[in-house]
Amino acid sequence: MDRRSPTDVALALRTATLPGGAKVPILGQGTYRMGEDADKRRSEVSSLRAGLELGMTLIDTAEMYADGGAERVVGAAIAGRRDEVFLVTKLYPQNATRERMRAACERSLKRLGTDRIDLYLLHWRGQVPLRETLCGFEDLIEEQKIRYAGVSNFDVDDLGELARLKDGLRRIVTDQVLYNLERRGAEFDLVPWCRQRRRPLIAYSPLEEGLLSHQAHPVLGEIAGRHDATAAQIALAWVLRDGDVIAIPKAARVAHVCENRGAADIRLTKRDLDALDESFPPPSDRKPLETR
Ligand code: NAP
Repeated sequence: MDRRSPTDVALALRTATLPGGAKVPILGQGTYRMGEDADKRRSEVSSLRAGLELGMTLIDTAEMYADGGAERVVGAAIAGRRDEVFLVTKLYPQNATRERMRAACERSLKRLGTDRIDLYLLHWRGQVPLRETLCGFEDLIEEQKIRYAGVSNFDVDDLGELARLKDGLRRIVTDQVLYNLERRGAEFDLVPWCRQRRRPLIAYSPLEEGLLSHQAHPVLGEIAGRHDATAAQIALAWVLRDGDVIAIPKAARVAHVCENRGAADIRLTKRDLDALDESFPPPSDRKPLETR
């Protein structure tokens, strides 16, 4: 019998399943540009906490953001409620050697005010051989400093190279990439590649840095009208449409966080999806993965 209370049911977000079985909400929260301005800190912390209340418990950050400042904001937001959160952070490629990764991880843990990271991502591919980075991840998993490992901004070729290494994909549970209505290149091969291997993708900049929130876009506006929603909600609902892509919009205003949460409950119809395909055409051939 389903024993969830009505409140829980109202709050329940769809989840994606990582290799190994962990379930994570398909809608999380980004933190790029947080921690840059002390005057904004209070609203950034409040926004992240509001998101947690609404079930958006996957929080994405990076050692790069505001030079550690975003991790500190996240640390403040999750203080006292660490166990509710699925915490994702990223290391610089130059820190992807075994020794440097351990030190980078310790610094991130300190700024985040926790003893473990749930998902640790290589932010983009650099000069360090992938084999060495995998060893670094393995060490940290054994030491229980991180639970899962993954990559970001890896194109299909990079993932293929990883997969050809012995146990190369064993610890890699996701790839975090630029993916939204304006940037659909990943659909050509990266999305199917990950889907086949049951690795949920994490879509960053799902609102194209806010550009997709403009109600004035005729098709987004029209679909939004049909769903009594906003353009931003339709753009997010589109990223979430198949249930195995995780979106991490960044919102430093509580109103935006609430609006984004609402997107996860919108189911786009075939008519909506066809109209979006007309306006934002899917890729017809392979292109290198776009990044920012
Ligand atoms: P985004 O989430 O597409 O857009 C963020 C912008 O949209 C902010 O200006 C935000 O404003 C605005 N916004 C949020 N919700 C809105 C709503 N409902 N209506 C109108 N505007 C809204 O862009 P992003 O920050 O580039 O990407 C999201 C996260 O992905 C980042 O924060 C970061 O965690 C991650 N990321 C990863 C990589 C990588 O290389 N792995 C690269 C880029 C980003 P307010 O802040 O004022 O609410």
